[in-house]
This record gives sequence, C-alpha cells and structure tokens, in this order.
Amino acid sequence: MQVANRLSKLPPYLFVTIDKKIAERQAAGEDIIKFTIGDPDSPTPPHIIEGMCHAARNPANHRYPDTKGLPKLRQAIAAWYKKRFGVILDPDKEVLPLIGSKEGIGHMSLCFIESGDIALIPDPAYPVYSLSTIVAGGKPHPIPLKEKNNFLPDLEAIPEKIASKAKLLWLNYPNNPTGAIANLDFFKNAVRFAQKNNLAICHDAPYTEVVFDGYKPPSFMQAPGAKEVGVEFHSLSKTYHMTGWRIGIAVGNEQMINALFRIKTNMDSGIPQAIQQAAIEALRGPQDCTASYNYILQQRLDKLVKVLNGIGLTARTPKATFYIWARVPQGYTSIDFTEKLLDEIGIAVTPGIGYGKEGDDYIRFSLTLADDRLEEGINRLSTWKRRDK
Ligand SMILES: *Cc1c(COP(=O)(O)O)cnc(C)c1O
Repeated sequence: MQVANRLSKLPPYLFVTIDKKIAERQAAGEDIIKFTIGDPDSPTPPHIIEGMCHAARNPANHRYPDTKGLPKLRQAIAAWYKKRFGVILDPDKEVLPLIGSKEGIGHMSLCFIESGDIALIPDPAYPVYSLSTIVAGGKPHPIPLKEKNNFLPDLEAIPEKIASKAKLLWLNYPNNPTGAIANLDFFKNAVRFAQKNNLAICHDAPYTEVVFDGYKPPSFMQAPGAKEVGVEFHSLSKTYHMTGWRIGIAVGNEQMINALFRIKTNMDSGIPQAIQQAAIEALRGPQDCTASYNYILQQRLDKLVKVLNGIGLTARTPKATFYIWARVPQGYTSIDFTEKLLDEIGIAVTPGIGYGKEGDDYIRFSLTLADDRLEEGINRLSTWKRRDK
C-alpha cells in the first residue's frame, strides 16, 4: 500500500513530538511539570453538564444531527455575538456550528485553496492554518510577527505580487502563542487590505473571553466591511472549559459559511445534539465561570512572569490568552532551552519554533495547570542553578 504524498509534506504535529519526549521521561519515573498544552484545568461548569445530560436522555437526540446545527444553537450564537460585540448575524446564513473550531479551520482551507494557491499565514502561528493549507495543496506564505510591532503583521510589507495572488489571510487575536492583542483599527486596516487584494480573511478568535484587568477584545466582525471579506472562528473550548466536548463556531460572510457547510456536509454529520444543547446552556446561561477562571489565571500569570524574568527569560504580561511567550537568553534556540528545562529541572514547555521560524527565540508557557503543579514549577524555576552551555 502507498500513503498519499500529501502526508509526507506534513511536518510532525508539534505536540505529538513533545508529548512523546515527556512520556519517555515520565515512564522513567520522573515527575514532569507540564506548561505545554493550553487546556483549562477547571471542569466544565455544572449547569452546562446538566443541560447536556438532560439532552442525552432524550431519544430525539440519539439520531443523526443536521450539519447546520440546531436552529436554537445558531440563534444562541447570534444572540451571544450581539450581546458581547454588538454584531448582528443572520442565524440561518451567517452562523455555522463546528466540531471544535480546529475542524472548521482545517476545512476552510479546502474551501478556498487549490493546488499551488497562496495563503498568508502569520509566523509564529497556531500550526493548523499552514498544515491545512498544505493538505489542500497550497503554499503557506509566512508573514512575520515581530515583538517590535507588538506581534502584529505589517500587511503593507507583503510584496504586491504575493498579496495580489493570495487567496486567504489568517489572523488570530488575542494571539496564541504570543499573547498579543489587536484593536479595531488593525481589523479595519485588514479589511481594506483584503478588499484591495481581493482575498478572504479568516480570523481565529477563541481567546476573546480569556482576559485580564478588564480588557475586552474586539471581534473582527465589528470592523465595517468585515462581513464582505471574511469569517471569524470562535470556540466554546477556552471560554467555557469545553475542550473535551468539541464544539466551535464560524460566523460572517455568507458565501464562505456556505462553502464551509458544503464541505462539511460531505465530510461529517454534525455535532452530537446533547453537546449542542450544552453549548446553548453555555451561551445563554450565567457567564461568571469565565470571570472566576480569569481571576485564577491572573494570579498564576503574575507569579510566573516574575519568576521567568528573574531567571534570564524576557516575558511580558499578556492582556489576554493563558500563555506567556518568553524570549530565551542570547545564544539559545527555543529547542536548546526547552531541552535544558526538561533535562535539568523536569519542566516541559513548548519551543517557539513549533509555531514558525520567527518563534525560535521564544518558548511558550501555558497557565492551565493545577495550582499545586504551578507552585512546584515555580519552585523549581526560582531555585534553578542553570548549567552553562
Ligand atoms: C485552542 C485553539 C483553537 C482550537 O479550538 P477548538 O475549538 O478546541 O478546536 C483554535 N485556534 C487557536 C489559536 C487555539 O489556541
């Protein structure tokens, strides 16, 4: 048998490689503190679980769901967007529930990228934008996110011939892995860039509710004209601690939503309805779980940033997301420093190179580990006597 060539073009999924190394150390009996994957350590709030259990007992929810999702869910999504961002969406044409936003992101590339097509992709970035471009036969064109530009891309610096040929531009604010944020002016400028170059924008926004100090990120959809050029991906994963249930959202441009629906209707059969019911509870119910988890994250953030800056890393305090993007000391690559942390004090982090070439001066710490593990990690870091190279 012969596996298709497109698989050989895929680099190994970053987390798989790291997890394997960590698993080897753990199998050898070591206690590893994992600052790697971003996955809330707090359980899904009880009222959401209750809604799901109730729906699971109803035989009407035991049969194939509709790919479009329950009308009530699409309405709840539209209502949430209106309340949170003041954005008006048509629940039948401009809203599509997803089996986690990762699923929708991957399938969106299949909708717009043909063999040899260019997608503009931030570097560093969540790996799925470029991997799905490659699967679709396209070419990711990296657009660097530099610290001196607050990790915002300089869209004007993209060569005219690349920009005019590109089919898609991917953006993600609040940003994973850098923790950077974007204001509405940035999104307005992105809309103009898309109009000028006749390309579509996909804005990935799972962290708009993971915020500190009262910061409220805008939605890309608030930018005038955004609906004409793009979509926004959202997710219940990070906001409502629902990573395990797999439910996300795409909203925005009708044509793009419809294209995604057409691909999906041929590839999957929708989201289990009990999980859709859970999402309705989450979106319509009390929102205090988000604020109380953000408070916990902020305590962790403040402690960890201080320790990291004390050991020669340069870390800024993000206004949103649960990540710290820390610059490694001169003379180290992200892999060097990641291995050093793992070898010398059993601390696992994600090396920045996994998010792109521009990430190689950085490592990412996620704050979603239990408090006692965090304390142990902080203890090891603050007493670390780094062996020099
Ligand atoms: C976590 C994450 C996602 C995926 O979220 P799911 O809805 O759980 O698939 C997408 N994009 C970014 C940037 C993320 O960090």
